Amino acid sequence: MTRMMQAATVEHFGKPLVLREWAVPTPGPGQILVKTEACGVCHTDLHAASGDWPVKPSLPFIPGHEGIGLVVEVGAGVTAVKQGERVGVPWLFSACGHCEHCLAAWEPVCAEAEFGGYTRNGGFAEYILADPDYVAHIPVGLAARDAAPIICAGITTYKGIKETGARPGEWIAISGAGGLGHLAIQYAKAMGLQVCAVDIDDGKLDHATRLGADVVVNARTSNDPAAEVKAATGGGAHGVLITAPSLPAFKQGVAMTRKRGTCVLVGLPPGEFPVPLFGVVADCITIRGSFVGSRHDMAEALAFAAAGKVRADIELQPLSAINDVFGRLQRGEVPARVVIDFAPA
Ligand code: NAD
Ligand code: ZN
Ligand code: ZN
Repeated sequence: MTRMMQAATVEHFGKPLVLREWAVPTPGPGQILVKTEACGVCHTDLHAASGDWPVKPSLPFIPGHEGIGLVVEVGAGVTAVKQGERVGVPWLFSACGHCEHCLAAWEPVCAEAEFGGYTRNGGFAEYILADPDYVAHIPVGLAARDAAPIICAGITTYKGIKETGARPGEWIAISGAGGLGHLAIQYAKAMGLQVCAVDIDDGKLDHATRLGADVVVNARTSNDPAAEVKAATGGGAHGVLITAPSLPAFKQGVAMTRKRGTCVLVGLPPGEFPVPLFGVVADCITIRGSFVGSRHDMAEALAFAAAGKVRADIELQPLSAINDVFGRLQRGEVPARVVIDFAPA
């Protein structure tokens, strides 16, 4: 008899998710089955459910790429993990393992990469099928619900900060202080950087200050947010990390970058943004994209959380609340990160 589980699925782009029964997957050779304990809700899940990006998932699918749980079944030949271990099933679901990018530990750009909650079913379900070579290994002592946001929001911002090349004592501007941004502020402080947080919401900026941001700028009420960041940082931030899912933030982010600094783009609103060529050329500014991180970055990002140096601010919700959570995330009303709690009541 087919075992069934509860899942929240995208049946049509731009429509509410559907709570329904879905067959529990059976792990084939080289695969594992994870019983979900917790799964964070990322803004990427909204983009996925809206069909925002050029490469779209096939319908129907189960979103969620911050799923943490216990390994309950292992397929033939699996040696990388054992039953009972706590793992995370991240955005980087799997990759080929032997192309030039995989060999260089840049597996997220592998042409054969599969993405959790996008090209493969994700964590908005009671069970997740996973590739044992690509799961995150959750340090002992880090609770599933606290680990969940680290395996996307955490790794992405930790890696993105490294990609800015900003050094201890220098300035980083973090545009967007939501799910990704509130962790970015903590990673940046733990890495010895001075932090300027930029958002359009005073509540998010107050939160940023409580998390250690040295300066905050409201990009909605300021006449010229980039000029404010430049004034506060003595000429612009050495590194800029744009997590905001909003196009105006991108042009502003380039404008707040210091001469010879690097502006790293991680937010993924659909569309394009104008780059003022003369300023970028004459100021020798680097603009760079960054896409989650490698498995090595994952282990490092989790180690910061296990050591208590970063801590996700989470709000627990049941799977049945997913459409309400999506609505609030879309409207910017989620204070930091919602985590779907699968623990029995
Ligand atoms: P979120 O909704 O939790 O947070 C977004 C924050 O940006 C909010 O605090 C919002 O107030 C703020 N914001 C909106 N417009 C702004 C503006 N004009 N200027 C400054 N701040 C603004 O979203 P999230 O989960 O943090 O995800 C953010 C983006 O990052 C999404 O587009 C998501 O798809 C993308 N993402 C990318 C990667 C990657 O690997 N590159 C990984 C994860 C998420
Ligand atoms: Zn994500
Ligand atoms: Zn590869």
